[in-house]
Amino acid sequence: MKNIFLFAEHLRGRVTLESLSLRTAALEWKDQYPQASVRWVLCGDSVFPVARDLAEGSGLDVIFFDHPSLKFGNPEAHAAALSSWLEPLDSWAFLLPQSSLCLAMAPALSLRLGVPYLSGAVRCLFDEGEIFFVRESLFGKRTERWRPVSHKRILVAMIRQGSFVGFKGGGPPGRVLMAPADPGPLRTHTVRQEVASGRETGLSRAAVVVAAGRGIGDEGTLASLRELLAFLEGAALGASRPVCDRGWLPPEHQVGITGQTVSPRLYLALGISGAVQHLAGMQDSQIIVAVNQDPEAPIFRIAHYGIVQDLKVFLPALLQCLRDRRGTRGGTPGVDETGATR
Ligand SMILES: Cc1cc2nc3c(=O)[nH]c(=O)nc-3n(C[C@H](O)[C@H](O)[C@H](O)COP(=O)(O)OP(=O)(O)OC[C@H]3O[C@@H](n4cnc5c(N)ncnc54)[C@H](O)[C@@H]3O)c2cc1C
Repeated sequence: MKNIFLFAEHLRGRVTLESLSLRTAALEWKDQYPQASVRWVLCGDSVFPVARDLAEGSGLDVIFFDHPSLKFGNPEAHAAALSSWLEPLDSWAFLLPQSSLCLAMAPALSLRLGVPYLSGAVRCLFDEGEIFFVRESLFGKRTERWRPVSHKRILVAMIRQGSFVGFKGGGPPGRVLMAPADPGPLRTHTVRQEVASGRETGLSRAAVVVAAGRGIGDEGTLASLRELLAFLEGAALGASRPVCDRGWLPPEHQVGITGQTVSPRLYLALGISGAVQHLAGMQDSQIIVAVNQDPEAPIFRIAHYGIVQDLKVFLPALLQCLRDRRGTRGGTPGVDETGATR
């Protein structure tokens, strides 16, 4: 393996956490292939400043593709530009974050290059010279091992798993290298990109996130969660996808790969099974406390504290305990209209 490329997706001038975490995987690859060079690949329009910051922050070289058609994350334009550049190279692994752009772009890239593509990998393993990718299904209850048919060209989208290993500061900056970026004629054009306004949930700045999963049973339980929030300073309400899909909470409360990424001091997961798509958005929380009636729930694998109990028993008991304490100590907790505590 001569080259390990990491796709650096960026939003509003900053490389996403999901992309940065690929570096963790790349370090393991580097152990296996000490001769290989690890480099970022970054696409966009007028993205030199982003590429430069990434090279300085990571100490890795950044190859960047600059073209107006790459401005708004057009998957076809990305696949076209990257495939003409990758085509003559014969020994590489290309790791991508499992984002909407990459999930649309990677299959097109795979077809253009005739290279097999795997999505949803949570980690890679090396066993006696063989590379395996691990995928989880059935909410983490089943693990699959995938082996690429060839080690020459590997295209994999990875879900962030395990803690993000930050950049080691102090090293020399990487180089910024410009690649030819004309994707040629395209059938699709992205005209505009709008950032959803969404209501302020307070999630990104919350010190405590109380997260509701399908296990809360029904929308009515949210009243208890809001009461709980009021007792916790700097707390906000998060949710798993089924809770938002059912309309119990608006989508901006969703935590996970297609929702928000949070890293509070305390993450309280209530009735959440721990699917990888959810974990991707909260696994960097400092302390994770999970309450679930199923002792085998995957969330317990990453929780620092696990409580195996029915929420219908746990929540009233916890609230009563907090009310009793308030009665002893005095003071009135408050919660604002966004669900965040004052
Ligand atoms: C492309 C894609 C993107 C996705 N993106 C996201 C995302 O961003 N965020 C996200 O959250 N999901 C996402 N998902 C969905 C994800 O795969 C899971 O389906 C989802 O996270 C499960 O939510 P849950 O844990 O609330 O529900 P479930 O998996 O149904 O788990 C409910 C849990 O509650 C427990 N429970 C039930 N009743 C009680 C009770 N009375 N007391 C205590 N515990 C109880 C159960 O034991 C169970 O473990 C995505 C899926 C796909 C395919």
